[in-house]
Amino acid sequence: MADRSFLDWPFFEDKHRNLAAGLEAWCAANLPIDHTDTDAACRQLAQMLGEAGWLTYSSDQDGTALDLRSLCLIRETLARHDGPADFAFAMQGLGMGPVTLFGSPEQRDWLAKTTSGAALAAFALSEPASGSDVANISTEARPDGNGFVLNGEKTWISNGGIADIYTVFARTGEGAGAKGLSCFLVPADTEGLEIAERLDVIAPHPLARIKFNEMKLPADALIGTQGKGFGIAMSVLDIFRSTVGAAALGFARRALDEALARTSSRQLFGAAMAEMQMVQGHLADMALGVDAAALLIYRAGWKKDSGAERVSREASMAKLYATETAFEIIDKAVQLHGGDGVRSGQKVEELYREIRALRIYEGASDVQKIIIARQTLADFS
Ligand SMILES: Cc1cc2nc3c(=O)[nH]c(=O)nc-3n(C[C@H](O)[C@H](O)[C@H](O)COP(=O)(O)OP(=O)(O)OC[C@H]3O[C@@H](n4cnc5c(N)ncnc54)[C@H](O)[C@@H]3O)c2cc1C
Repeated sequence: MADRSFLDWPFFEDKHRNLAAGLEAWCAANLPIDHTDTDAACRQLAQMLGEAGWLTYSSDQDGTALDLRSLCLIRETLARHDGPADFAFAMQGLGMGPVTLFGSPEQRDWLAKTTSGAALAAFALSEPASGSDVANISTEARPDGNGFVLNGEKTWISNGGIADIYTVFARTGEGAGAKGLSCFLVPADTEGLEIAERLDVIAPHPLARIKFNEMKLPADALIGTQGKGFGIAMSVLDIFRSTVGAAALGFARRALDEALARTSSRQLFGAAMAEMQMVQGHLADMALGVDAAALLIYRAGWKKDSGAERVSREASMAKLYATETAFEIIDKAVQLHGGDGVRSGQKVEELYREIRALRIYEGASDVQKIIIARQTLADFS
C-alpha cells in the first residue's frame, strides 16, 4: 500500500484528504482497464472518469476555482493505478485549459461536455519546427471578414485524431515572435481539419500530427484577447506543469511499491533481498526522491491555491525534479526486479516506458532549468 502519510502535511485541507480517499477507493474498484485498443481505452476512461465525477476537477465548470492541489492529487493517484487513466484525465484539463481560464460564456458551454466525458479535448501548441521554441509558431490565422482563416500544421497533439474539441495556437501577427499569437477554439468537425498522421510512441497514447487547410473560423472562435495567445499558453502551462510532476510522482510511488514488494519476497543468497544493505540503499534513495518530489509539487499547488498569480518557478521546479527523479526511481525498480524488470507485461517495464515522455513534454527538463535560473537571477538583482 503506497505511503499516504503525506496527506497530513499542512499543504492539504480536509477536502483534499477526502478527495484522495474517495479516488483511491474508486481506482481500486475500477482500474486498470484493458488498453489493447488505445483510442477506445481513452474514450472509455474519459467516460468513466466523467460519470464518477472526477472530471469536474479538470475545470472550474462547477463554479469553484481550479484547485491545483486537487488536480495534482488526482493525477498522482490515477498514474499510480493506471497511466492511461491519468492521461485521459489530464487531457480534459489541459485541452480545455485556455477555455477554463479565458473562455467566453459560450465557449465555456464545451466544459459541460468535457467534464462529463462526453467530449474529448486536445491542446494544439507544438509544431514540427517549434516545440520548445513556442514563440516560433508558424500556423497562421489570417483575418477574413468577420472571422479568421487557419492554415498550418501541429504535431505531437495528444488526443489528436479522437478529440472532439481543440484549442489551437496560431500567429495573428500583432507583433513579432511571442507577441503575435492568438488562441482559438476549434471543434473537430470544422471543415479543413486533417489528421495527417497518427504517431506511435513507446507508451501508447492517442497522438497525431494535424493540419489546418484554409479552415474558416468565426470571430467568436477566438479565446481571450487577440495577440495574447502566448500569455494564454503560459498561464495554462503554469498550472498543468505541476500536474505533470504529480503524474511522475504517481509512477514513482508505484515503482517504489513494486520494488518493496519484490525485494521483500525475493530470496537471494539465503535471505530476502530487502535485508541486503545495498538494496536498502536503493530503497532509501527511492523513498527520499518520492518525498522530495511530493514536497515540491504540493508546495507549488499550495502557493497557487493560496492566490499567487503565477507560480512559474515553483511549477518548473516541481516538474523538473519530479520527472527526472521518477525516471531514476523507476530505473532502480527495474534493476531490483532483475530480468523480470524488462519483461513485457511487468508493471515496472510499463512504468519505464510511461515516464520517459514526461521529461520532454510541457517543457523539456532543460527548458525548466532556464525558467528556474532566470527567475532566480531576477529575484537576486
Ligand atoms: C508523448 C508526447 C505528448 C505530447 N503532447 C502534446 C500536446 O498535447 N500538445 C502539444 O502542443 N504538444 C505536445 N507534445 C509536444 C511537446 O511539448 C514537445 O515535444 C516538447 O515541447 C519539445 O519540443 P520538440 O519535440 O520540438 O523538441 P525540441 O524543441 O527540438 O527540443 C529537443 C531537446 O532540446 C533540448 N532543448 C530545448 N530547448 C533548449 C534550450 N533552450 N536550452 C537547452 N536545451 C534545450 C531539450 O532537451 C529538448 O528535449 C507532446 C510530446 C510528446 C512526446
